[in-house]
Amino acid sequence: MTRPILPGATVGVLGSGQLGRMFAIAARRMGYRVHTFSPGDDTPMGQVADREAVGDYNDLEAVGEFASRVDVVTFEFENVPFEAARTASEHVPVRPRGEVLHTAQHRQREKDFLAGAGFPTAPFEHVPDREALDAALARIGTPAVLKTAGFGYDGKGQAVIRDASEADDAWQSIGAGEAVLEGFVDFEREISVVAARGCDGEFAHYGVTENRHRDHILDVSIPDPDIDPKITQEAVEIARGVLEALDVVGVLCVEFFLKTDGSLVINELAPRPHNSGHFSFDACVTSQFEQQLRAVCALPLGDTRRLRPSAMVNLLGDLWADGMPDWRAALSDPALKLHLYGKAQARPGRKMGHLTAFGDDGEDAARHAIAARDALIAGRR
Ligand code: AMP
Repeated sequence: MTRPILPGATVGVLGSGQLGRMFAIAARRMGYRVHTFSPGDDTPMGQVADREAVGDYNDLEAVGEFASRVDVVTFEFENVPFEAARTASEHVPVRPRGEVLHTAQHRQREKDFLAGAGFPTAPFEHVPDREALDAALARIGTPAVLKTAGFGYDGKGQAVIRDASEADDAWQSIGAGEAVLEGFVDFEREISVVAARGCDGEFAHYGVTENRHRDHILDVSIPDPDIDPKITQEAVEIARGVLEALDVVGVLCVEFFLKTDGSLVINELAPRPHNSGHFSFDACVTSQFEQQLRAVCALPLGDTRRLRPSAMVNLLGDLWADGMPDWRAALSDPALKLHLYGKAQARPGRKMGHLTAFGDDGEDAARHAIAARDALIAGRR
């Protein structure tokens, strides 16, 4: 049995965004100290952490110094360089291990892993340069989606190619760098499974969540959608298989496309708590953030059962375009939970916070959540 890291110990987090902030809140509630390391200051996580270390992830001396002052290191951001994880692991356990990040932070490596291990993916081709794009298009056909190999999120660094004549534009628009070409998946819905795996292989999951996007950014998440239970079971079993195959200790989200024929295709992996699991903060016995803490500290995993049917909507910076949203109007729904991440600058598309609402079922909860978000703007008039 792995030796547990008990309350009173210090957890170090590489990254400092909203995922780290919610992790820190969960960890502090259980009596842990939390340190964050990232290039920014006054960050969402730094505002609630015991210590906010400011440094570059490539400054391995600074990463080593940070790691030497904590008992375990985890992540809230997957684009941390592998070398930083390796350096931290010279001092303390790093969970999940750096190799998990290394795989998940690069689309080609991720796809190679998934396909190699027999998990379902869309057809894909590696596109190291412009010439390779033509060959890849010939093999995959159109429509297809060109995605940068690294550092993509929320649809950034992506271009849909509907006809081979659009290849040049697409190549330029993603920055003319290493990429992956994927076959376009004609999906019925997007779903995800957030799951956790403990140090000794214990597994827990949050079931299936349906995710509705707007402009490639997650807009609404509804846990436990009305889909065939066989699909739910299959999605959970795939997630279990991915966590096992990658030997993950921590939380990982598998994003899927559910095709019209009922089959599942993995879109991507996120080796950390995920936006689609935010509902768990208010609506589950154990949130995904507490679960990450339990996993990386070698504690027993917590119960993921729902307290009430819920849904989550994101609050993007666009809501601030004409001034401060009317929080009071939204909170007139007494069951609404407001989360704000402490970001000073509200830019369009930037995730500033989210709302979790409750209802008789997921769709009812989603109606409440969307109505509350609408009230943020309507109330201002
Ligand atoms: P990603 O950043 O890879 O999660 O992609 C963002 C969004 O783009 C997804 O949530 C989908 O809505 C859409 N998308 C990405 N890849 C594909 C694909 N191969 N086929 C169809 N839609 C896609």
